[in-house]
Amino acid sequence: MSRQTADEIGKFYDDVTDPYVQAWDGNLHMGYWETPDAAPSITEATERLTGEVISALRADPGDRVLDVGCGIGRPALRLARERKVDVVGVSISEQQIEIANASLTSVSLPSRVSFQTADAMDLPFPDASFDAVMCLEVLHHMPDRGRALREIARVVRPGGSVVIADFALRAPVPERHRDLVDRFSAACNLVTLTEIDEYAREFTVSGLDLTEVIDISDQVRPSMSQHAAAVRAARGTLGPIVGADRLEEMAGLTDRYAALPEFGYVVLKGNGRLRSG
Ligand code: SAH
Repeated sequence: MSRQTADEIGKFYDDVTDPYVQAWDGNLHMGYWETPDAAPSITEATERLTGEVISALRADPGDRVLDVGCGIGRPALRLARERKVDVVGVSISEQQIEIANASLTSVSLPSRVSFQTADAMDLPFPDASFDAVMCLEVLHHMPDRGRALREIARVVRPGGSVVIADFALRAPVPERHRDLVDRFSAACNLVTLTEIDEYAREFTVSGLDLTEVIDISDQVRPSMSQHAAAVRAARGTLGPIVGADRLEEMAGLTDRYAALPEFGYVVLKGNGRLRSG
């Protein structure tokens, strides 16, 4: 499997954002089901996951928050509205940033929100320039996740809140599931996928203090087949872009991967570390 570069991932999102938004609304992430038979709509489920991340974030009115990998800005706008914080959203996809900025013209917000293109592995911000950082379903796209984590650790102020939500493995992948996991990762652009423990270790090594690891695999798992169904239902718009075969591959592998016991989804909570010296 060749590892995709940040630019390739950005171009992919440039192409698929419109159909993705049509297929499952403006939250470009999985959903959160309180129980496996809860059956929320896709919008309810994705909003619920946004809500889990926002509620894990410590931020007071007037704080400045960075949303790394902001998609079209839906989570950032909700964060600004609910917490009255200023938000800067960055994405590697220029197309997403255009849509996010255009959406600002039609909303009224209690605080300042802005969006710009940037690479999470090379953030264009000074050290300690944010009170909090959130990163929702983004870091699996990083060819060098450690570098992105170090950038987050650098730009958050000491003691500032960091919340990362992402795919991870609940257990080591046995040989018999390896091919399926690799094919799912390749089809869905998961460049870096590790066990939860390794993710938590990298979080700490990057210079952040880890305060909580929340395993929400059971709440996210049922949304995977909902997501696969949305991909299939969008074949009219997504098919011509990604190819009919790849689209079916993405949907089929998503269903099969989610059924594995190793499937995982984690929320890592922590703080910027107090620097000595
Ligand atoms: N957090 C958003 C979007 C999640 S989709 C939401 O929940 O709605 C993944 C996002 O990661 C996309 O916006 C994609 O452009 C962004 N991304 C991927 N690689 C990136 C990189 N190297 N730097 C910045 N953003 C990146």
